[in-house]
Formats: sequence, C-alpha cells, structure tokens
Amino acid sequence: MGFFSQDCGRCGHPLLSPGATTAGVNEWMTQGVAIDPEGGVHLGDYDGYGRLGGAEKAVGFGATVFHRACWDLLGKPVQFAGASVDSEDQGWFFGDGEHDLPDPRRSRA
Ligand SMILES: [Zn+2]
Repeated sequence: MGFFSQDCGRCGHPLLSPGATTAGVNEWMTQGVAIDPEGGVHLGDYDGYGRLGGAEKAVGFGATVFHRACWDLLGKPVQFAGASVDSEDQGWFFGDGEHDLPDPRRSRA
C-alpha cells in the first residue's frame, strides 16, 4: 500500500510525510492534528501511512484533519467536523513547489 493523506480543513493542502517536504519551506506540514469520529484527538508528526504521533490510522480513515499550524490559528478545535477530503495526490504525487507554503503562523505576523 502506498502513501496516502488527507487535506487540511483550513488550508486545503495535505498533511505531508517528512520525505515529501521542501527543506526550509514547508516542514510544518508534517505536524498534524486528527480528530476521529469518536472524538479522539491525535497530535504529532505524520508518517505518510496513516500514523500521526503515536496513533495508528489517525489520518486517511475519516478523521477531521488539520496541520498543527492551521489548527493553532483556528483556536485548537477539538470537535469532529466530518471527514476531511482524501488527498488526490496522496500527499506524495505532486509537482515541485505545489505545497511550498510558508508556515501560516509566521506569515500572519
Ligand atoms: Zn493547513
């Protein structure tokens, strides 16, 4: 089974695994938050295969998903808000620069 991901409920870009980021630009996209339908909240680094921090199947199985940075900006919501979109590019098959956004916590300053 290959890589998969879900798109962040705030910015619409996928959670990325470390190997899919651009150094010095969007490593912040590996840090995610997933709220499962039962209300469990998981935080951590995304591995590209569903695992977020210590939780298996946190991403890609119908959770509400955000980047940690985006979640912070939204005021850290903990309510399940429906399944986030499954990433069409699986968080892996995308062109250079497609997800090269700066950390929104910095750009807002
Ligand atoms: Zn985001």
